Amino acid sequence: MPSHRSAPIRHLAAAVLVLGFPCAGASQESSADYTEPYQQRALDIYRTLIGMRTAAGEDQVPAAAAYLADVFREGGFPSEDVHVLPLTTEEGEEVASLVVRYRGDGSSGAKPILLTAHLDVVDALPEDWERSPFALVEEDGYFFGRGTSDDKFGVAQLTATFLRFKDEGFVPTRDLVLAFSGDEESGMETAQALVGAHRALTDAEFALNADAGGGTLGPDGSPLTYLVQTSEKTYATFELTVTNPGGHSSMPRSDNAIYELAGVLKRLESYRFPVQVNDATRAYFEASAPIVGGRVGEAMARLATDPTDEDAAGVLWHEPAEVGMTRTTCIATMLRGGHAENALPQSATATVNCRIFPGVSVEEVRSVIQEVAANPSLKIRTLGHPVESPTSPVRQDVLNAVAAGVARIRPGTPLIPYQAPYGTDGIHYRRAGIPTYGVMGLFMKDADRFEHGLNERVPVRGFYDALEFWPVVLRRLAGRASTS
Ligand SMILES: [Zn+2]
Repeated sequence: MPSHRSAPIRHLAAAVLVLGFPCAGASQESSADYTEPYQQRALDIYRTLIGMRTAAGEDQVPAAAAYLADVFREGGFPSEDVHVLPLTTEEGEEVASLVVRYRGDGSSGAKPILLTAHLDVVDALPEDWERSPFALVEEDGYFFGRGTSDDKFGVAQLTATFLRFKDEGFVPTRDLVLAFSGDEESGMETAQALVGAHRALTDAEFALNADAGGGTLGPDGSPLTYLVQTSEKTYATFELTVTNPGGHSSMPRSDNAIYELAGVLKRLESYRFPVQVNDATRAYFEASAPIVGGRVGEAMARLATDPTDEDAAGVLWHEPAEVGMTRTTCIATMLRGGHAENALPQSATATVNCRIFPGVSVEEVRSVIQEVAANPSLKIRTLGHPVESPTSPVRQDVLNAVAAGVARIRPGTPLIPYQAPYGTDGIHYRRAGIPTYGVMGLFMKDADRFEHGLNERVPVRGFYDALEFWPVVLRRLAGRASTS
């Protein structure tokens, strides 16, 4: 369901393009260059996971969870700390999540850290792909395959990091708990169960989500920014319906469902929800302004200091990659109406998809739409079960640890907290009172982002870099001073 990361940072890459960096081909990395046993084991796990078609309707998620449970037990984790948690979804599908506890010595006195990712993928049709989506293919310095980025990357990285820590005899000062959900791309029911029915297994001071955040490379392959996702907008979809008695089209009535709905949509088109700024978007605009530069950069800087600056908000209104950072947005996405070419329409319905600023309720947005529509006969129906989630406070200990991890692989990259215009399992963890930070260890170019799409890929270097990123981050947060 959610799409990931890249939208708000398109500008940064564009800015670099404008500045005219050479588009030199980066030197091609090959997995054959990475010969350490922990690197090879990580690649094996990644390859096995990509080979499983864990899309909705394919019934492969329980097998993926069982496979990883075996990997952890063979890697030295006691059975009582490895939990496969089956779940039957509302749609009747058998899925599963996996929880693995890495026991610490408790010396920090702190609650555990939750580390999250998801086992499922958006489906891919093999006939549409140039290479098989369900086999890891290495070519031209990239790993191709469904889930190479979203999110078997995160699963393989966290799994490999736990196994490596175990081999090294690392004893954290607090428990580290892995939680891999099984239906993030569809219902997110496993995430809800992880922090609901299974809360005793997953309770934590905060969570690091390996399914969001991460670094962006410019067209020349040099690092631009690293985003830490601290909040997500709420996803809600409404159906707006106007009904009418209808009749014969040779005898038109003065009221008409299609015309009325058109009027409603035109009013909605010109309505702008109020501009809002929170810690995450302020930090994002402050840090992005000098990099983006120009008129858009100036508007970002002004909005960061004064959310009431209507001129600045007006500039960003015309920027698709930025407007969602400034306010709640609602947009018409689908339309249907009428039943025969020679009949007056008895109903007309528009689908309106909203991305709601954290702190604003779904009900509030629905009543704004009703008011803006200015049509008392309009019926509004909320689709599904939208989930509202709070923002997570910007935590300096987390930012410092992530900064150390980033410095290890891409020194000098600025860290930017940000709010995602999409949703991940993180909304459920935040809603359950576990502050959640999206900190995927992957750097890539915007031009290489094909999550949910065809020919999903990640750079080979990005995979091996992330293996060095996670241990630094986790040792900072859960290691003794001497080991961090
Ligand atoms: Zn994902």
